[in-house]
Amino acid sequence: MTAFITGISGQDGAYLAQLLLDKGYTVVGITRNNHPTNHYNLTYLGIQDKIIFEEGDLCDLPFIIRIIEKHNPTEIYNLAAQSSVGLSFAQPTATIHYNVSSVLNLLEAIRIVDNSIKFYQASSSEMFGKVVNLPVTTTTPMHPLSPYAISKATNYWTVVNFRESYNLFVCNGILFNHESYLRSNTFFVKKVLQDSFKIKSGKLEFLRVGNIDVKRDFGYAPKYVEAMWLMLQHQEPRDFIICSGKSISLRHIIEYVFKKLGIDGSKVVVDQNLYRPVDIVDIYGDNSQARELLGWSYSMTFEEVLDQLIQEEATNLHNQKNDR
Ligand code: NDP
Repeated sequence: MTAFITGISGQDGAYLAQLLLDKGYTVVGITRNNHPTNHYNLTYLGIQDKIIFEEGDLCDLPFIIRIIEKHNPTEIYNLAAQSSVGLSFAQPTATIHYNVSSVLNLLEAIRIVDNSIKFYQASSSEMFGKVVNLPVTTTTPMHPLSPYAISKATNYWTVVNFRESYNLFVCNGILFNHESYLRSNTFFVKKVLQDSFKIKSGKLEFLRVGNIDVKRDFGYAPKYVEAMWLMLQHQEPRDFIICSGKSISLRHIIEYVFKKLGIDGSKVVVDQNLYRPVDIVDIYGDNSQARELLGWSYSMTFEEVLDQLIQEEATNLHNQKNDR
């Protein structure tokens, strides 16, 4: 079995690569930048030497066709994306252009070269945005609230359209927020953890945040990548929601981390400049179909995840990732 993972240098790419290697797959990692400095997450997991890399741009259809013909993958996991909601407000055209073209090209390449390849698309809870009825299910209407969410909603419907039009085995994994030590520090939970350790050691005075009264459904990334693989092993292609099923406020996360590290609450500064133009107030999902049909299980509270992340952050305090 050969699997392509696009966006292999990211958080999910690294954990999924580890999972697939453990299962005996040949893993081909598609990256925009095949330089060792972009392999931090893979090096951290000790798997960088086990991956075959292909460097290129997913907006380039001939590149995708060439690497499919070269490696004959059985599965493609598309995790590559401009994945930051905040950045998508600053770079809407680049975000929508890259995210939309890349998925369309991958699906076209599958249709042209080998329509037996199974395809996983990294869809996002952000597609639902201004949601009226919680929990989110696969039939909840979409109301995206950012350029990122618009790109992911377009991707979602492109996958559905290729499945219905060409009978391909293509699936959307609709994942809610998931975190790990390997999360980029431009994302909220990782930023809170890194900055809290800096405050504790006197290297930083304040944790500066935007709106912390919004709520999200957070989970643990290494468990969520298991669901990606399970989706492509299911007997039929369909879309699944992967989430913890509960939401907690960003304020609660800060309070929890500060209490664990013994930091005073006055060290938080709410900065209106960090607010998004529009934001999701509260969102959580229903993961019952993934449990029942895929046999996926998830039971961690987010406090348990935070305990683990605090521990891992403390263990790695002086390494390259924390010094960035
Ligand atoms: P990351 O941001 O950590 O990784 C995404 C990877 O995509 C990058 O490492 C990069 O790999 C590649 N990439 C391609 N184009 C771009 C671009 N224009 N800007 C930045 N990176 C680009 O994301 P995650 O691993 O956290 O998430 C994986 C996928 O799942 C993404 O598509 C994301 O949108 C989606 N998702 C994530 C959630 C989460 O909570 N983590 C929730 C729901 C969906 P390289 O440099 O090697 O090319």
